[in-house]
Amino acid sequence: MRWETIRKDTVLRVAPNLGDYDKECAEFSWSKARARLQGLPGGQGLNIAHEAVDRHTASARAKAVALRCVARDDSVDCLTYGDLARATSRFANVLRTLGIGRGDRVVTLLGRCPELYTVVLGALKNTSVLCPLFSAFGPDPVAQRLRLSDAQVLVTTSELYRRKVAGQREALPGLRHVLIVGEGADELPGTLSLTALMTDASDAFTIPPTSPRDMALLHFTSGTTGSPKGAVHVHEAAVAHYMTALYALDLHQDDVFWCTADPGWVTGMSYGIVAPLIHGVTVVVDAGDYDACRWYRILAEQRVNVWYTAPTALRMLMRTTPRTGPYDLPRSFDLSALRFIASVGEPLNPEAVVWGRDVLGLPVHDNWWQTETGAIMIANFASCDIRPGSMGRPLPGVEAAVLRRGPDGRAEFTDGHVTVLEEPGAEGELALRPGWPSMFRGYLNDEQRTAAAFADDWYLTGDLVRRDADGWYWFVGRADDVIKSTGHLIGPFEVESALMEHPAVAEAGVIGRPDPVAGNIVKAFVALRPGFDATTATRRDLLAFARRRLGPAVAPREIAFDQHLPHTRSGKVMRRLLRARELGLPQGDISTLEDSSERTEQSA
Ligand code: ATP
Ligand code: MG
Repeated sequence: MRWETIRKDTVLRVAPNLGDYDKECAEFSWSKARARLQGLPGGQGLNIAHEAVDRHTASARAKAVALRCVARDDSVDCLTYGDLARATSRFANVLRTLGIGRGDRVVTLLGRCPELYTVVLGALKNTSVLCPLFSAFGPDPVAQRLRLSDAQVLVTTSELYRRKVAGQREALPGLRHVLIVGEGADELPGTLSLTALMTDASDAFTIPPTSPRDMALLHFTSGTTGSPKGAVHVHEAAVAHYMTALYALDLHQDDVFWCTADPGWVTGMSYGIVAPLIHGVTVVVDAGDYDACRWYRILAEQRVNVWYTAPTALRMLMRTTPRTGPYDLPRSFDLSALRFIASVGEPLNPEAVVWGRDVLGLPVHDNWWQTETGAIMIANFASCDIRPGSMGRPLPGVEAAVLRRGPDGRAEFTDGHVTVLEEPGAEGELALRPGWPSMFRGYLNDEQRTAAAFADDWYLTGDLVRRDADGWYWFVGRADDVIKSTGHLIGPFEVESALMEHPAVAEAGVIGRPDPVAGNIVKAFVALRPGFDATTATRRDLLAFARRRLGPAVAPREIAFDQHLPHTRSGKVMRRLLRARELGLPQGDISTLEDSSERTEQSA
């Protein structure tokens, strides 16, 4: 089925920040964007925490709610921008008292509690480097990242410390301080109580001069295609966070905004903390785990206007409410405040875009970026038509290109140079012109991998895309995941999306299985919706359905049923693991493999 374009010709409730895409692109410059931020008083540089917090305290926003934290028991705790300014200053003073300063690494291993936000922004005020870890990581991935990040301070809870860190503490000599949120520090040798330290600290703190190029954040990638990499980000990333949230999330100052990603991942940091706070909006923080009813309730009760989530979460909602109806569950909530829905992290199947329109009354706006890009690079905008299945178009200030690919799927080098494809329908590796402020400044302690990511003044993303005649980008697959079959290159996303259109399919993961004749054949692993059985008849029906949709060259030749497709902890289907298991190969780095028993879906 060709999906029809969703037209934006109806009157929008609020005038979008980006009205005329072409005009905005033509007039945009990063230096003009930089002028929209305030900078530290006295021309002392640029600090993310000043823009996100302190700046607002001198305005009417001081009394506005910055964070609305919904606890697991549904109780709500609100912090104003003024409260947040004082709490973050206290934490900056705590760090200073402990002898932690510029460039020192402060690591968090915390759920989505109010203290997490104080620690992140307080560490940035102190010009220390903040590295968030997803709290569901097991002991080994935690220790590995504490070592790789050269952590001097860890902020966690007594329970997480006991379960995940205490046993390895001796092997982490660089870890000078462990600060415990909540109760329990007294019984744990080698730890300090954050509450006690905060009580003793002053709530006044002057941010020291900060160069826009000072390191601010360290983010580990999701580990979908290999071992996770530590991407270094700097304070001037704030310029891109602000502008991209303005354009691609259409944030307006009075909005209530909910980003469901955990701040252990780059989405939860860039768009769950930094960008919305710079905009001065009210950020909803949910400490609980995914649950369809809970999520609809939060959207309704918190009067969320802008919602940023992930395909995996949308697929879970689609499991409970198919597009064909009935819509009883979502319709039992008042979602009338909702104005804009966006998604990131994985390809967004066209089915999910249209599901949003039909079930929630709003289409889902897909956007694309990576840990390395630090901010949204390609997006569907509030004012522009949506072509379901397309990631949209580059943001103003972002120059994207499609590079000719070689036999391995990655950009091809001829005499040491890459080739930019200009023609309509060009397909190849997506590249970005360095120069946007949130570009990573390298993989920590890995010059070789950093150097390999750049060529001919392009940053090579490792993703394959197609650009249509009008300049819209379509995700084909990760270079590591594409399938070479009888001379064709097949993107697993296309096959997965086609399967998702069948009413029996809740989720699919597609790989290539080596075959002596075809090179590879396409094999799909399918999770079924409730009410459908893993029978030969279902398999036959799915194979025929896919052949009709995709043609015999692209359709899967084999289908296996698997209700527990492997996901990264950030919620992405791990095709490399499906492939390794299928071929009996070593599993590789599985530090980011989600434990299906503790699936939260709250990350992206
Ligand atoms: P690793 O680099 O360790 O393998 P990862 O690439 O999954 O992990 P992230 O930086 O979290 O780590 O994810 C970025 C990747 O997610 C992108 O390169 C792309 O492959 C995928 N992605 C993000 N958004 C989209 C989207 N809208 N459509 C398709 N793919 C997307
Ligand atoms: Mg990646």
